[in-house]
Amino acid sequence: MRCRHCGTPLQHTLIDLGMSPLCESFITQDQLDAPETYYPLHARVCHTCWLVQLPEFVSPAHIFTEYAYFSSYSTTWVAHAGRYCEMIKGRLGLGPKSFVVELGSNDGYLLRHFVGLGVPVLGIEPAANVAETARQAGVPTLVAFFGPETAAQVVAERGHADLIVANNVLAQVPELNDFVAGMAHLLAPEGVVTIEVPHLERLIAENQFDTIYHEHFSYFSLGTMSRLAAAHGLVLIDVETLPTHGGSLRAYLAHRGSRRPVSIRVADMLAQERRAGLEMLSTYFNFAGRIQRTKRELLSVLIEAKEEGKRICGYGAPGKGNTLLNYAAIGTDFLDFTVDRNPYKHGRYTPGMHIPIHPVEAIDDAKPDYILILPWNLKDEIVQQMRHVGRWGAKFIVPIPSVSIVDPNKLFS
Ligand code: ZN
Repeated sequence: MRCRHCGTPLQHTLIDLGMSPLCESFITQDQLDAPETYYPLHARVCHTCWLVQLPEFVSPAHIFTEYAYFSSYSTTWVAHAGRYCEMIKGRLGLGPKSFVVELGSNDGYLLRHFVGLGVPVLGIEPAANVAETARQAGVPTLVAFFGPETAAQVVAERGHADLIVANNVLAQVPELNDFVAGMAHLLAPEGVVTIEVPHLERLIAENQFDTIYHEHFSYFSLGTMSRLAAAHGLVLIDVETLPTHGGSLRAYLAHRGSRRPVSIRVADMLAQERRAGLEMLSTYFNFAGRIQRTKRELLSVLIEAKEEGKRICGYGAPGKGNTLLNYAAIGTDFLDFTVDRNPYKHGRYTPGMHIPIHPVEAIDDAKPDYILILPWNLKDEIVQQMRHVGRWGAKFIVPIPSVSIVDPNKLFS
């Protein structure tokens, strides 16, 4: 097995989470008694370019044909996209003669803001059902995987892009070098690429092991991003940290030789990553022991609650929830059900652990004692929305970065 960026043979384990089904393959009632395919969930780190990665077991074509994730179902996420569009429009001076392309544009949750601001856009999205939702919302969307060929097609039909947006998509690209080569081809000479990715430094520092799943092939530091960009004639010109997904980077890239100035923040963060040990193998070797301890702590809390006769349900059915549930073997012996705001998932079951997924209102009917928050990165939004559960004494369990209990009556009295 070789590094998907630099080709070095992969010799070092970050963490081996055992065998797990695909995180987004929610199953229907008819499939409950059928065999389910499990794949190794074993993350490795490249000691040459420090890319953390999983092998590609399933093609993106399989994952994305009918994708269950619609970005618009998270109000936090839509608001985040709106703020970004306002900011970048001002920063780059985008207007009616500009051209913005988003890679992995999902249901148009981001580009619709640019449409509203009068900036021409094109979304590129491989999942046909999700792309159709975007088109209905007035966002022109090409159903395709992105790479040099798609880039050439867009350049021929619409010209080069002044802004390329790649938010939370780079991790899901198996052919990483092709993808970045396509960006370099599509980008106008003085254009800018912005890339948002969960920050590997935070993943490691805060035990975010559940963000590791088969559909996420790669996990980035800024240092790795810098090497990847350089291999395709691009350079980092700025970087910001964001609170999204437990802590993300927004990297700004331009062509090497572009007139755009380079922010001091780039060198500062590269230095910070080196101080955090991201270019030392020992940092990666220490991770697995901490995750094993987190698993034991979570199971202790759940076992104690069940021994006391308490009822527990989940909140959310995100991909990362399924890594956590399968790794810790948390099934319906612990969680009666989970809930999700996405109607696509209602009536389905979580992969592997087969926990039924209901609409959010099911919590009000069941009145459980504990609610395990699976999308812990949205815990503030969820606790706020669900604070009424305190009326019957329910508490929230937040599993990451370490197991904690949140009593809504003590937050909003
Ligand atoms: Zn490498």
